[in-house]
Amino acid sequence: MHDTIVALATPLGRSGIGVIRLSGPDALSTARRLSSNGNLAPRRARLTQLSDPDSSEQIDQAVVTYFKAPHSFTGEDIVEISCHGSPIILRQVIDVGLRLGARLAEPGEFSLRALANGRLDLTEAEAIRDLIEAQTVASARQAVRQLQGEFSHELQPIKDELLDVIVILESALEFVEDDLPDVQSKNIREKLVRVRGRIEKIASTYRAGHLIRDGLRVALVGRPNVGKSSLFNALLGSERAIVTDIAGTTRDQLHEKLTIGDIPISLIDTAGLRETSDRVESIGVERSRRAMTDADIVVVLLDASEPLTDEDFAILQSVAELDHLVAFNKIDKVGTDELNSSLDNLRSKKYPEERAVAISATTGQGLDALKLAVIDPFKTDNDSTSGFLISDARHHDLLTRASDEIEQSIASLDTKASEEITLIGLHNAMRYLGQITGETTTEDMLTRIFSTFCIGK
Ligand code: GDP
Repeated sequence: MHDTIVALATPLGRSGIGVIRLSGPDALSTARRLSSNGNLAPRRARLTQLSDPDSSEQIDQAVVTYFKAPHSFTGEDIVEISCHGSPIILRQVIDVGLRLGARLAEPGEFSLRALANGRLDLTEAEAIRDLIEAQTVASARQAVRQLQGEFSHELQPIKDELLDVIVILESALEFVEDDLPDVQSKNIREKLVRVRGRIEKIASTYRAGHLIRDGLRVALVGRPNVGKSSLFNALLGSERAIVTDIAGTTRDQLHEKLTIGDIPISLIDTAGLRETSDRVESIGVERSRRAMTDADIVVVLLDASEPLTDEDFAILQSVAELDHLVAFNKIDKVGTDELNSSLDNLRSKKYPEERAVAISATTGQGLDALKLAVIDPFKTDNDSTSGFLISDARHHDLLTRASDEIEQSIASLDTKASEEITLIGLHNAMRYLGQITGETTTEDMLTRIFSTFCIGK
C-alpha cells in the first residue's frame, strides 16, 4: 500500500485560489481532521472551516472535495482543498498534512500513481506534462489528443498484429518439425511489412510534431550597427509569446520567445553576446559561436544602405555550413537600385545561392516575409491541425527501434533463418512498443520520465 502524498497543485504565489492535493490511504482522515465539517461525501464540493487539529487555530475557509478510490485521478483516495491563494495559508495546510503523516509529493508522483493504478497509460501521463508546458495553441491541441489516448489507439492494432505473428511463429516452433509452409511464410512477411509501414508512418510525424512542441532556435548575427537589436525588438514587439508574459517564468537573458504561426521560436540574441565579448573577448566569441551552432537556423543581418564589408563576408563564411538565410536591413533608407546592387554584390562573390530577404527593422517592411523564410525549410506536408503527430524524442526513438527490429525479422524470414531468430526481433519490437505506453517500461525509466513533470501533477 502506498503512503499518502501532499502537494500544492497551483503555482506558488498569491492568487484567488490555491489548491492542495492529497492522495493515498490517509487523504480522507487528514482532510477530516483539518476541516470542521467531517462529512465529506465523495464528489461533493463542501465549504468548510479549516483549522489546525493540534491548536484548533483557524486557518482558512475552503472548499474541500473528496474523490473516493478508485474513481479518482490517481485511483486512490484523493482530497482537493481549494484555499484562498495565500502562500501563508497554503504552507500551513501542507504543514498540517505533513504532521498527520503525509509526505511531500515528488514531481509527477500523482501521475505516476495514476499510471501504476491503470488510470492512465504512459503516453497519456506524458500528454498531461506536455499540455501543461505547451507554448502554443497547436501544441496544446496535440497534447489533448494524446491525453485522450489517440497515440495508444494508433499503436494497439499494430501490437495486436505483431502478437498474431508471434503466436503463429511460436506455435510453429512447438508443433511443426519442418519449416513453415511457403504460403504461410509469405503471409507473415506481408503482415510484417505492413506493420512496419504503419510504425514508420507514425514515426515520420515526429519532425512536424517536434517543431510544434519544441519549436526552433533562431540566432541573429551581424556586425555592429546592422540593426540586430532593432530587428530583435521588432520581431518580439508583435509576436511575443504568451509564456513570457506569465509572472515567474524564468527568462534566459540570451533567449526571447515568440511564435511564428503555430511554431514557438526561441530567438537567440547574439547582440547581447557581443557585449560580453567586449569584456572577455574569448568567452564572448566562444558563446557566440555556440549560440550559432546550437541554432536550427541563423539569420545573417546585412546593412543594405552600405557596401558589404569584409566583416560581413567573414560572418557569411562562418555560417556557410549552417542552415541560414540573409536579411538585408534598412531598406527604408535605400532605393531599389541600391538594394539590387547589394544583392548582386552578394551573388557575385561566393554566395550565388544565398536565400535573401529585404527588410526594415524600423518600418517593419518585409518582416512577415522574413518570418516565413525562417520557418520555411522546416515545414512539412503534415497539416498541424489534422492528423495526430508524435512530438516526443522518446517515442520517436522507440518507434524507430521497433521498426528496425521488424526489418531484421523480415530479413531473417527472407533468408529462411529459424523461427527463433525471426522471433527475437519481433519480441524486441513488442517490448519497444510496450515501453511507449508503459507496459514494459522499467522502474528506472519511469523515474527518469516523471522527474520531468511538475510537482502537484
Ligand atoms: P546592432 O548593433 O546590430 O544591434 O544595431 P542596432 O539595432 O543598435 O541599430 C544600429 C542603428 O541602425 C540604430 O541607430 C538603429 O536605429 C538603426 N537601424 C536599425 N535598423 C534600421 C532600419 O531598418 N532602418 C533604418 N533607417 N535604421 C535602422
